[in-house]
Parts: sequence; structure tokens; C-alpha cells
Amino acid sequence: MNEKGLSEKEIFSYLEDAKSEDTNYHRVLSSMCTHPHKIAIEANRLFIEANLGDLGLFFGAHRLEKEVVRMLGKLLHAPSTDIPSGDSCESSVCGYLTTGGTESNIQAVRGMKNLVTAGKKGFEGIPNVIIPESAHFSFDKVADMMGIEVRRAALDSEFRVDLASVEELINQNTIGLVGIAGNTEFGQIDPIDKLSEIALENEIFLHVDAAFGGFVIPFLEKPHPFDFEVPGVTSIAIDPHKMGLSTIPSGALLFRSPSFLDSLKVSTPYLTTKAQFTLTGTRSGASAAATYAVMKYLGYEGYRKNVQHCMQLTSKMVTEARKAGFEPLIEPVMNVVALKVPNPDLVRIQLLKRFGWNVSITRTPRALRLVLMPHNSPEDIDAFLEDLKKVTAE
Ligand code: PLP
Repeated sequence: MNEKGLSEKEIFSYLEDAKSEDTNYHRVLSSMCTHPHKIAIEANRLFIEANLGDLGLFFGAHRLEKEVVRMLGKLLHAPSTDIPSGDSCESSVCGYLTTGGTESNIQAVRGMKNLVTAGKKGFEGIPNVIIPESAHFSFDKVADMMGIEVRRAALDSEFRVDLASVEELINQNTIGLVGIAGNTEFGQIDPIDKLSEIALENEIFLHVDAAFGGFVIPFLEKPHPFDFEVPGVTSIAIDPHKMGLSTIPSGALLFRSPSFLDSLKVSTPYLTTKAQFTLTGTRSGASAAATYAVMKYLGYEGYRKNVQHCMQLTSKMVTEARKAGFEPLIEPVMNVVALKVPNPDLVRIQLLKRFGWNVSITRTPRALRLVLMPHNSPEDIDAFLEDLKKVTAE
């Protein structure tokens, strides 16, 4: 910062220069985020100053947050949905808007830990949660921050969590399980109904990370049980800023029971409300408005069309890739494709350097990971496969 401020012209010239270094999602096949819907952008602007960390000052934004949680609750088959007015949560399903999947996952495990350690006096040892090997790296942060052991269950040949491996890892210190509904690398859905049986049998919690899949799975042709309809599911993470087409940062965390949210309560003596359940203090009301606007605008029909578009792209990618001699690791379940190519790390670098394609790589086994998002088109796929053929032919 200088002693004297710069002119608007100078600032915007600098900003535009910086913006030109960003991608505009052109030739991006690696991202789980996309262009926000234009109505979300407008709504975000309208509520730009609203702070959901101080609910008493922003009743309107808070009302929109409650509406979003209600709509998400309905989408995820919650029996009934509400969020706290500030210091209590009265009805059966509660939730709030987070900054994204990472915060939702952290808070879900924090809730499990608080409930168990408060409920079981003299809980000894380190509590553990069991996650699939495929879980997002946000769970590494959970382990690091909370003094919780994160145990990783093996995957089956289709990259779903292996149930025998989960059962083997359960011991007297296990407080919960995590299932992924749309894993980051393969787009695979864990058998949430079976995890639910294990969770209920062992009287432990079950968190479902549907950060990516939450706005996809309900709109797929083939049903996959993953939400509150499955009886053992105690919490769900779902991100409007991914396939929900809202602005960043928009995540959401829903709990089946108010006791979960209560376990996260911290008193806030100098704010307009007495308690806070959230991880962050100051929170974006603009995200709540953006998510409200896009969900109301698109409705189920709009999201179904969005998912249909992405699944058609996925199917085209697999069919055309096969014709070119590249097999997927699994038949895609959602709009994520993992393609077997020789030397994927080198291919990735070449695709970017020579043709401007952004792709990523799965960890084990190493394959080309492609996420087919609303910003992609059928023409992109044709062009991408032509370039892939060139890169792999050398
Ligand atoms: N969970 C899953 C399954 C994800 O795919 C991601 C991100 O891609 C996250 C959690 C983390 O979400 P965020 O980056 O919004 O914190």
C-alpha cells in the first residue's frame, strides 16, 4: 500500500491485467466449480455487505439462509428442516451455510467428537473416524486440527469403500464413519445404505460428504440412496458453489438432529445473538442470497437439465475416448471420468503446454481425471480428444 491512494483507472487497469491471468474455464476439465449462474451473481452483489456472523443485524440475509437450508433439506429428504434463530434450534433437522466442503467436513467431525466426549464421561484414548481411502484431503485437516485419528478404509475394484475394511477398522474409540457421495477423483458413490447399517449396529455417526454429488445425484436417472432417506445418515455436506451454480464461497452442512448443532455452540457475548454454531465468525450473506436466487430460479427442472447436459458430455467423452483406444477406469457414475492413458503425468503437462487443456490426475492408480462441467461443450470434447491423440502418439 502507498501513502497516497491510486486512481480508479490505475486500479482497474491492474485488476484487469490480473484477471487476464485467470482462466475463464475455457479448456478446463479439472475443476469441480464453474461459472456461477448470472442470477446468483446479481443476488450476491445485492447482499455484498451482509454478515451472517451477526444475525441480529441482517435479518433479511438470515431469512434467505433459512430458506436455502429448508430447500436443501427437502432436496436431501430431511424429515423437516430448520436452522437456529441465533441461540437455539427447535425443529428436527438443522443446518447452516458454510464456506464449502472443507468447513462442512471439519464441523461434522467436530460435532461427532463433541457429542461423544460430552455424552460418554471418561471417554479414554483418541477418538477415531473411518473414512474411505478416496476421501477428500479436507479430512487430513480434521486429523491435524482436532486430535482425531482418521482411519482409512480400502476401496473395492470400483473405487467404492470396502465394507469389510470399514468393519475391521472399527474399535471402541470409533465415533463415526464417513461415506462419500461423489468422490473427488472418480465420481464414485460409496454404498451409503450399507454404511448406514454398520453405523446403526455400532451406534456411531455417519457423515455423508456430498460436496460435489449433492447437486448431481438427485438428478441422475438411476437412483442412488445417499441422503437422509437412509436412516443412519446423521449429517450431509453439500456445496452450492460446485454443481449448484452459486457463487464462491457457498457450502452447506445439514444435521439430522438439533443436538448436533447444539454441540457446536459457542457463546458470543458481544454480538446481537447469544451463540454461534459456525466455524467462521463473519460469514457471507451474499452467498446465501446467491444460493437462494439460483435454487429458486432453476428449480428441480433446471438442475435436472444441468446434470443431463453434464452426463451427456460424460457419455460422449467415454464413447469417443474408447474409439480412440482409451478406456475409462470405471463406467462413470457421475460427471467425472478417469481415463487410462500411458504416462498420465507427462500427458497432463503436454496437454497444458501445447494445447491449453487443464486436466488432473488420480492418485492410485494414476489416470487422467476429467470433470465434465456446465462450462464444457460437445465441441470441447472433440477438440480435447484430437489433442490427446496427438500427445499420446509421440
Ligand atoms: N468433499 C469433496 C467430495 C470434494 O470433491 C471437495 C472439493 O472438491 C471437498 C470436499 C472440499 O470442498 P471445498 O474445496 O469447497 O472446501
